Amino acid sequence: MEEFKILSELAEERDGKGPQRADLDKCVHCGLCLNACPTYRELGLEMDSPRGRIYQMNQIAEGAPINDSYIRHIDLCLGCRACETACPSGVPYGRLIEAAREEILPRRKLSMKAARYQRWFFDKLLPSRPALQVAGAVLYFYQKSGLQKLARLTGAFKLLGSNLAKLEVLTPRAEIPFFYSKIGKTFPALGEKRFRVAFVAGCIANVTFARLNEATVRVLQRNGCEVVIPPAQGCCGALHLHTGMAEHAKALARNNVDAFVPEEFDAIVTNAAGCGSTLKEYGHLLAADYDYAEPAQRFSEKVQDVTEFLASVELNDQMGSLETIVTYQDSCHLAHGQRIKDAPRKILQSIPGLDYRELPQADICCGSAGIYNVVENQMSMEILRHKMELVKGTEAEIIATANPGCMLQLEAGVRMFGKDQRVLHVVQVLDEAYQNYMMALVRKKKLANATARRR
Ligand code: SF4
Ligand code: SF4
Repeated sequence: MEEFKILSELAEERDGKGPQRADLDKCVHCGLCLNACPTYRELGLEMDSPRGRIYQMNQIAEGAPINDSYIRHIDLCLGCRACETACPSGVPYGRLIEAAREEILPRRKLSMKAARYQRWFFDKLLPSRPALQVAGAVLYFYQKSGLQKLARLTGAFKLLGSNLAKLEVLTPRAEIPFFYSKIGKTFPALGEKRFRVAFVAGCIANVTFARLNEATVRVLQRNGCEVVIPPAQGCCGALHLHTGMAEHAKALARNNVDAFVPEEFDAIVTNAAGCGSTLKEYGHLLAADYDYAEPAQRFSEKVQDVTEFLASVELNDQMGSLETIVTYQDSCHLAHGQRIKDAPRKILQSIPGLDYRELPQADICCGSAGIYNVVENQMSMEILRHKMELVKGTEAEIIATANPGCMLQLEAGVRMFGKDQRVLHVVQVLDEAYQNYMMALVRKKKLANATARRR
């Protein structure tokens, strides 16, 4: 009893930070989540399984010191939340791992260089439009000037260090013109207006997924949506939250709650499952904030993933045929974070001509997991290699998914282990079907005009 008291006192010193007792106590240690866990499947180690990590969190909560071994096992977790879906006891694992990382953050031993880079990335780059535009322009020059091609051909990055070479393959493409020029604008519904929606354009996505954002707006317009892109929106804070920077994430959440007026829209739509998962949790994130708790909750209730929204409305079926084999890789933050698995499949299967092939173990993470593929590159690439072997078995020409981060990882997978498959977001596949329909209409009209002229 005495010992218990001492441990509880130690636990209280954690100032309410770290995994909470009520969440930890939900785990009954049954082990039903083990096979769903990519790191357990790779390493076969209990300490790298969800149950093992919860056991370690429990020890810390009872006063054990945070040591390097604990940090390593927590770092190796992808935060994919597959264990949360598999768990029959309702353990909120996503909340536990975020809290564990927040508690670890001040105790991390980072080199000056790494700390400076981390500060620049999270504080200066992600939340700043001008900084992202400059970084995007530099990246565009590197890629279009032929420097990237040259660096890859000569293996220049290998000379600078093997880690740099491994990371270079994950570099996203800068897409000119950036999507920033569309922010603040309203796009009318095509045909009868059925809905008014707000679109969340993201942060890096404005630079590296500008074409995906445009396709998303087009698809929404074709489905009777007036699409508003509120000007003051910014980074959602998902990456900050997953790294343990909860206070930064809260500041970014407040900015977005101010930027959108939920009552004005039928839905607040995002095409990034990772962002959507965090946007839907703003209510919880700001629950202790007197001024923002209630508006944040209203905001979260309006957030929908674009596939979730489209599957819930009567989908415009004026689609042209897409004669191609398509498979679908679940995005963890859609399948596990938001429990949405049917909507993207339903959309793909509604496209005429498309041969849909289910991917075995589609709901196991591809190894992307935010910046996991950068900071835990070796494990991430092992997981990706297995994923691409399964993709090969489907003979798919298109790998569809629902999150820009997963697209980057799968594109790297195609470059390293694939067979020239195209990697597209589900809405881009749907957009192609709509474009095909429009092109068929134009061709028909031209033919009719030519026939009329001949008569
Ligand atoms: S979040 Fe993913 S990697 Fe982490 S313990 Fe759960 S299943 Fe394993
Ligand atoms: S997290 Fe859930 S499934 Fe995994 S051991 Fe605990 S209770 Fe069982």
